[in-house]
Amino acid sequence: MQLPTYDDVIAAAARIEGHAHRTPVLQSATADARWGAQFFFKCENFQRMGAFKFRGAFNALSKFDAAQRKAGAIAFSSGNHAQAVALSARMLGMPAVIVMPQDAPAAKLAATRGYGAEVVLYDRFTEDREALTKGLAAERGMTLIPPYDHPDVIAGQGTAAKELLEETGPLDRLYICLGGGGLTSGSALSARALAPQCKVYGVEPEAGNDGLQSLRAGHIVRIATPKTIADGAQTQYLGEYTFGIIRRDVDDIFTVSDAQLVEAMRFFAERMKMVVEPTGCLAFAAACAALEGGAGKGERVGVIVSGGNVDLARYAELLA
Ligand SMILES: *Cc1c(COP(=O)(O)O)cnc(C)c1O
Repeated sequence: MQLPTYDDVIAAAARIEGHAHRTPVLQSATADARWGAQFFFKCENFQRMGAFKFRGAFNALSKFDAAQRKAGAIAFSSGNHAQAVALSARMLGMPAVIVMPQDAPAAKLAATRGYGAEVVLYDRFTEDREALTKGLAAERGMTLIPPYDHPDVIAGQGTAAKELLEETGPLDRLYICLGGGGLTSGSALSARALAPQCKVYGVEPEAGNDGLQSLRAGHIVRIATPKTIADGAQTQYLGEYTFGIIRRDVDDIFTVSDAQLVEAMRFFAERMKMVVEPTGCLAFAAACAALEGGAGKGERVGVIVSGGNVDLARYAELLA
């Protein structure tokens, strides 16, 4: 297995240029004063379709040959990867099929259909989505793009941290929201190349700490679907590629509770006027917890805010 490298991130950056947004890096004097560090927020909640996943999907689909383009792309996802593949396919003029759970957030189902993809629903508790998707892919000759465990997806996700570090210069720490590990492994490739001294941390929901368990065990640990408000990080296991990079390039993995996620979400709303989805708050929540424990005081701390797609009724309920 050949792991993607920083050169692949550079190639991905060239492919997505002019198609993905170069998202802003925001600062907050209030956050800096409250926690005693200098924060740099890479705001992927302002990315196309509202999350970094556009980067990986667009990069992967851009590499399709003529036959693959004609048949199109297929993906299974409960959320942002679905929209990312749907939008990328539309922009590149190819068909897309997205396999989604029946109980996916209404906003995400509507957005995926809105981007022109055909949505196939399945029951999360009784059906095997991977088998279903592979069957459909074979039947229609479509290319399956997984949400994280694919070299082109990882390389695309790595472009966010590349942009961040090119803009800020070296950072002392970089916190990244961690589900299946596409964003964390891609970010780690960029950080190792651009800021070798920077500590790189993945952050998971407390209920779903399979990444932390895997790092400690030295092999991929599988868990049951975790119960957490961070629906973008309800993954049960890291991928082969993502774990290969994470175990080599990531310094540690932290976890945060749902209550900490809500506090971070409230801070983003009140102080930075940003709507950030629960999963997008993982990195900031962990950075705050570390600083509250004295780790990282006075340092330059990078935080990847991974996405902002949350049903507004749900958002209001969580903040109430
Ligand atoms: C998918 C997603 C994550 C987790 O990314 P992985 O590459 O699976 O680790 C984090 N935040 C948001 C908003 C996401 O959509």
